[in-house]
Amino acid sequence: MKLHTIISCLILYGCVAPESQAPAVKDLPEGPFLAILGNVQDGGSPHPNCQKTCCRAVITDPAGRRKVVSLGIVDPESKQNWLVEATPDLPVQLMQLRQFAPFKTDDVPDGILLTHAHMGHYSGLMYLGKEAMNTKNVPVYAGNRMHAFLSGHGPWSQLVTINNIALRQIKPDSAIALSSNIHVTALQVPHRDEFSETFGYIISGPDKKALFIPDIDKWEQWKVPVEAMIALVDYALIDATFYDAQEINNRDISEIPHPFVIESMARFKNLPAQEKNKIYFIHFNHSNPLLDEKSAATKTVLKAGFNIAREAMVLPL
Ligand SMILES: [Zn+2]
Ligand SMILES: [Zn+2]
Ligand SMILES: [Zn+2]
Repeated sequence: MKLHTIISCLILYGCVAPESQAPAVKDLPEGPFLAILGNVQDGGSPHPNCQKTCCRAVITDPAGRRKVVSLGIVDPESKQNWLVEATPDLPVQLMQLRQFAPFKTDDVPDGILLTHAHMGHYSGLMYLGKEAMNTKNVPVYAGNRMHAFLSGHGPWSQLVTINNIALRQIKPDSAIALSSNIHVTALQVPHRDEFSETFGYIISGPDKKALFIPDIDKWEQWKVPVEAMIALVDYALIDATFYDAQEINNRDISEIPHPFVIESMARFKNLPAQEKNKIYFIHFNHSNPLLDEKSAATKTVLKAGFNIAREAMVLPL
């Protein structure tokens, strides 16, 4: 171990390895499952230049550091795993994913699915390059525009030209097989599409399906009624970037292009309890009170029959 590594280890952890957040192997499902590897919006938490308690409290507790939204897909039968999103927290998320997939002999995933070209969702690809893992042909599943963005602009283009990654195109609304157990279908959703289209995904296992939409404009902007998609799945992991107007200094929430949690809860108010229970809010801005498990907002959401996506949660497929 290099000296600076030993010193930082002593400072951070007193040289005691941080406890694993993954469940013990005996507690993992026998069949395929999703594992939540992060639940925070692109900027992460601690968020750069945030002076408020939401991030100041986290920075003094490195073990409590939160991670940007990512899911692991694990198929114990085919002995494969996949990462959904390549976040700035990718190195530690790959280690976590490995803990959920003890059959793997290294941390390199069998593929990565991307939703869009905003920093929290793809920039972790940099760790696959020469300066870090120097991987060989890791399949990266994404849409047309995302492919053009990656292969047309450095430094991402180098990942393609030296075959660190192998681009695999996904067309919206047509299912592709990751293994005989796992199928994914991309859904194109409205969002700020400066550099790429934006996808959500339906991830299907042998028994259950999950909808994943980390970023979307207001629900009304989508040609598909989201309730119809929720009806098709068992879990719906959906955009909960902001909670309410108070969080954004009482600006008009109609001007902010995300479904606020209070808007979503109002929209879903009359759904049957079993439909509400499928919903897992995710992609929290650092200021979102749902990141605090003890906040009044957390209690309100849970009491109303919805769920909150937390790191290390396991959802059987
Ligand atoms: Zn995002
Ligand atoms: Zn903050
Ligand atoms: Zn985005």
